[in-house]
Amino acid sequence: MEIIPVTPRGYCKGVVRAINLAKKTALEYPNEMIFMLGMIVHNKYVVEACELLGIQCVEEKGKTRLELLDKIHSGVVIFTAHGISDEVYQKAIEKGLIVVNASCDDVTKTQIIVKEYLEKDYEVLYIGKKFHPEAEAVIAISDHVHFIESKDDINQLPDYPQVMVTNQTTMSIKEIYSIIEACKAKYKHIVILDEICNATRIRQEAIEKLTDTDCLFVVGDPKSNNSNKLKEIALLNGIPHVYLIETSNDIQKNWLEGCDRIAITSGASTPTYLTNQVIEVLKHYSESNELLHLDIDMNHLLD
Ligand code: SF4
Repeated sequence: MEIIPVTPRGYCKGVVRAINLAKKTALEYPNEMIFMLGMIVHNKYVVEACELLGIQCVEEKGKTRLELLDKIHSGVVIFTAHGISDEVYQKAIEKGLIVVNASCDDVTKTQIIVKEYLEKDYEVLYIGKKFHPEAEAVIAISDHVHFIESKDDINQLPDYPQVMVTNQTTMSIKEIYSIIEACKAKYKHIVILDEICNATRIRQEAIEKLTDTDCLFVVGDPKSNNSNKLKEIALLNGIPHVYLIETSNDIQKNWLEGCDRIAITSGASTPTYLTNQVIEVLKHYSESNELLHLDIDMNHLLD
């Protein structure tokens, strides 16, 4: 059995920055309550490791960042890598909270571009994933930002004189271009600004280059959009068995039966330590036909 670790794997620059800011904040404010407004990055193990540093995650299914902020009354609030709306930022300041903004630069850049086009009286069509915090922050900018999740959403829109089309940074390249084609067919005056970030792009391209692969493990959190997209792309690309797993302990022995070539990739918010454990377990299996169970040492998750 051949084990193929796909390159690149591991944290992207935005996740590295967010984790470093969280660690720095814990050191700088030892006497304050520290909160992250949602998961700092979409990986539950990273969130748990941050909680061990004294940073509390404020999260509730179905609640927006603005609503979650009502649960924080004092101390420090860390805005997550997914970006934040001006409204939430302003509300945190008005509440007297100390603000630490871990928004990824690539996410902030998309917000700036959207605002520039709104100032030029464009309607903005924003392709993203429903309820994702990155999309939530962009939609909050203006009523002239229209959320698009599928081609059907475009049919519901009026015939605007000029539109700018852009997207959430972690979408699938193929998916957004198929929606963009539908936008082009509907609107004459259209500006297209593909904002898929480099980290997302190169991970997707690496998956598309995989050939003769029987099985792919994507190590990532079910909430991680870029991890889910890697899985979708691999399936579309014809890899017969694709599994999104959080740790090596999720691997089932029967998944490996009959597989000769097994590839491993990870989302941009997955600790390298967890991906390395998956590689270790698969290598051990290929030599012994036995699955190892590995404990997770929380001290390695923020490396
Ligand atoms: S996946 Fe892209 S947008 Fe998201 S944090 Fe990483 S670099 Fe930034």
